[in-house]
Amino acid sequence: MPEQPMSLASMSPFWDRFPEVAARETRTIILPYPQGGLPAGSYGFLELFCTDPKCDCRRVLLQVRSEDKPDTVLATINYGWESVAFYAQWLHGDHEGAREIKNASLDPLNPQSKNAPSFLRLFQTVVLQDKAYIKRLKRHYTIFKQHLPLAGGWSGAPPATAPNSP
Ligand SMILES: [Zn+2]
Repeated sequence: MPEQPMSLASMSPFWDRFPEVAARETRTIILPYPQGGLPAGSYGFLELFCTDPKCDCRRVLLQVRSEDKPDTVLATINYGWESVAFYAQWLHGDHEGAREIKNASLDPLNPQSKNAPSFLRLFQTVVLQDKAYIKRLKRHYTIFKQHLPLAGGWSGAPPATAPNSP
């Protein structure tokens, strides 16, 4: 189990790995006018998943970016769709940490902006009300985990000689 379970080091963009699925299925929220403390705009919730083949953490790290300024991360949100008990076990009994994953929370180690709390609220009150979206996240996690490279990182072909399976 990772000591820093929320570290970006072990999280990798879904859109790099599955650009076509991501283009179709990344959640976007359009605010036609300022709302809930946020400026009008089109905001995407981009997914990153854990790359450790031995880890089954069942969570997503979401980067909120606007269509206007896609290079700026406006908020980084942690979310997990399993039960609090599942994450408490994963976090060695840290129930508060488990609830934070389950309810969605701002990631303390990754980029945020002054609007990050408003994006978190938008995520909790609008995006997470959509059961189909949660199912979609689970599906993305599953295909991401099923297609992890055997070795050698994320770019290029798998090595010619496959490593021994465990
Ligand atoms: Zn993991």
